Amino acid sequence: MPLQAEMQAYTIRISRRAKYARITIKPNLCVEVVLPLGVAKREAGELFKQQQPWIKRTLLRMQQHAPKALGSKLSETLPENLPEKIELRALGESVLIAYHESPRAGFSELDGVLSIRLNPEQDKANQVARVLHAWLKVRARESLPDCLQAVALEMNAAYQAVSIRLQKTRWGSCSSLGNINLNAKLLLLPPEVVRYVLVHELAHLKHMNHSPLFWHHVAQFEPEFARKRKELQILSMGFPVWVHA
Ligand SMILES: [Zn+2]
Repeated sequence: MPLQAEMQAYTIRISRRAKYARITIKPNLCVEVVLPLGVAKREAGELFKQQQPWIKRTLLRMQQHAPKALGSKLSETLPENLPEKIELRALGESVLIAYHESPRAGFSELDGVLSIRLNPEQDKANQVARVLHAWLKVRARESLPDCLQAVALEMNAAYQAVSIRLQKTRWGSCSSLGNINLNAKLLLLPPEVVRYVLVHELAHLKHMNHSPLFWHHVAQFEPEFARKRKELQILSMGFPVWVHA
């Protein structure tokens, strides 16, 4: 699980006042091993291993119950335009975001909370956009191929392969070889609009153009295609900043 990746990492703090070695988990989800002065550093690794069940339990609880508190320290310094929540409208999911510090930017997702790790010394908006794009691609690769397959079955259309990318302007494309390419940003749109895009690309398997015949074929499966096409344009203009970055 993604959480695992975070669990490998801990920091060591040597404390003059500590009498025993102990583990603490900070509000930003970083695990810290506190060692009394004079205790060998390898003790930290052993304690960390030994305390895995407790660490796992505590991290999970913190992620589930206090998503906002996770990055309290970092959040104070974040520019306001960073998202706290993302609606994956195509999937009917609302994903909360928790930020915390780490030397390397990255993400992990658990139970509807997306934890984003950011390096506090680098540009945050930039890192967030990069991380969210990567996350969106992972989510899209998990879900869009199945959606496409279901619509293809309905249209009796056979495509060769599907690939998911993150593109600036195109929602999808269909090659003369029958390879369909879909934009991961589709996940941010309502299901009926996504369906229109899928019908559109699959219709290209029959008509490699935008001729009246093509639109006639689209209309057979999507009678309201004109309205949805318009909606697609309007909705994409209202996307948050990170989507376009
Ligand atoms: Zn087209």
